[in-house]
Amino acid sequence: MCGIVGYVGKNEAQGFLLSGLKRLEYRGYDSAGIVSIAEDGEATLIRAKGKIANLEEKLAKNRRTDKIGIGHTRWATHGEPSEENAHPHQAGSIYLVHNGIIENYQEIRDKLTRKGYTFYSQTDTEAAVKLIDYYYKKYNIGPIDALNKTMVRIRGSYALAVMFDDYPGEIWVARKDSPMVIGVNDGETYVASDVPAILKFTRNVYYIGNLEIARLQKGEVDFYNLD
Ligand code: GLU
Repeated sequence: MCGIVGYVGKNEAQGFLLSGLKRLEYRGYDSAGIVSIAEDGEATLIRAKGKIANLEEKLAKNRRTDKIGIGHTRWATHGEPSEENAHPHQAGSIYLVHNGIIENYQEIRDKLTRKGYTFYSQTDTEAAVKLIDYYYKKYNIGPIDALNKTMVRIRGSYALAVMFDDYPGEIWVARKDSPMVIGVNDGETYVASDVPAILKFTRNVYYIGNLEIARLQKGEVDFYNLD
């Protein structure tokens, strides 16, 4: 189980995401990645195997002023450490970072394969983001209902941060048996799997409950309980 960071606010996101991930480096990891989304919905996803310095190097060529993004340092549990297996993972217009383990990922992969999905990584995480995509499209529902349905279906422990191209000002987070904290400032909202990543920026911290979902927007957070 490794690191998650997220930011939505008035400043550019990539810089915070990188510094937040560095603050979580002490936990150990084998790869790292971030995705940010521009106001027009265009996403920039960058991942690298190994040190955050490798990610930083790639990022230098892809600097964006996007004001929303999520990042991850991975400690592989399913699939070798590689760029392909690094988070964020993607399904259509949905991006996800995940700490923990999806125990029934094989069952979900099999179900989705029967529905025509293909998989590019060996991770348990990819099954989760594709399941969100499946519900999102099949029922033509919004993020909250797609996440809700996914949480009912997946077993295991997880902290998730999710972004949808269709909702470019929002980060959705959910957790079960894996920690995550949210910090809110004037016009800025942060999320991290560990307090040190955000303490420098805000002392106004909320702990998201087990099986709770939250929507993060600029300087705002709304909490929802699983139905
Ligand atoms: N189980 C996921 C993977 O192997 C997440 C690992 C983590 O918590 O970093 O990619």
